[in-house]
Amino acid sequence: MTLRVAIVGLGKIARDQHLPAIAATDGVRLTAVASRHASLPDVPHFATLDALLRDGPSIDAVALCVPPQVRRGQAAAALSAGKHVMLEKPPGATVGEVDPLIAAAARADKTLFASWHSRFAAAVEPARQWLASRRIRSVQITWKEDVRVWHPGQSWIFDPGGLGVFDPGINALSILTRILPQPLFVTAAELCFPANREAPIAASLGLNDATGLPITAEFDFRQTGPQSWDIVAETDGGRLTLSSGGARLAVGSEILFEGADAEYRRLYRRFVELAATGACDVDLAPLRLVADAFLLGRRRIVEAFED
Ligand code: NAP
Repeated sequence: MTLRVAIVGLGKIARDQHLPAIAATDGVRLTAVASRHASLPDVPHFATLDALLRDGPSIDAVALCVPPQVRRGQAAAALSAGKHVMLEKPPGATVGEVDPLIAAAARADKTLFASWHSRFAAAVEPARQWLASRRIRSVQITWKEDVRVWHPGQSWIFDPGGLGVFDPGINALSILTRILPQPLFVTAAELCFPANREAPIAASLGLNDATGLPITAEFDFRQTGPQSWDIVAETDGGRLTLSSGGARLAVGSEILFEGADAEYRRLYRRFVELAATGACDVDLAPLRLVADAFLLGRRRIVEAFED
């Protein structure tokens, strides 16, 4: 059976990743679009999700590709209309707002899929398996990118609930919480807020697990030149480097695994698989770490940011 999906929010991630991934994945078909501003040739278009649910063609599922601040209401409406829901990351603008969605999905017997696309990067699973049999001594994350290149004009990212630099940083945390064997918690955080913005442009975190494993994370949106999306683990079997956002795995100087970018195709395969039985997949661990960084973080005011 083909999963008939509507995309809600036809912005950067919908166009860059969701449309090509849906086109390339068996068992899923783009059936409608809800967008305030944009439409696609030959695809039924509605200005809002409510209008789509009321007047649109039959659909089985929605992929919510809007910013986190407006996603919860749409997810609740879609679930109450009996649709499976894929949430872009992060799954919520707050941690607490996701629980009622999980309950609504259970009541409706529908899938709620909190997608973490970086977990589907090619080398993440090989890294998890490699680490599983090693003693890990320390972990360092360096996740630095140029916000002007990757998020041009996206003012929501610096609004309350937009997460600022944690918008990409949470991708690193989604990988970290997948590849390490124990639950993690934040021990320290410093958050740099531009003088004119409501969310941090850079952050330094300290984390631990119950065994005291020292983990540091450096997130920065002000990186120009080469970009860094790297996780390095020192182990008794050598230094593991997971780079390029999880696409490449090396131990010492030896590359063990390198895969093509197919994160969103894997994401849609997973969504199709989940929807077949109405199962849910919602892991809030990365969002909890971000929320705890906001709870614990020292705040520094830094130079104003202009787009
Ligand atoms: P975006 O292009 O700024 O926004 C996506 C779309 O959401 C907009 O085009 C708009 O769609 C809709 N939208 C924006 N503000 C809205 C509002 N206030 N109310 C209702 N709809 C609104 O953002 P994006 O980069 O695609 O990111 C969307 C989500 O995907 C974020 O949670 C982000 O973390 C995640 N994501 C982004 C990337 C990336 O590389 N950009 C990668 C992975 C995940 P319409 O005009 O069509 O209504």
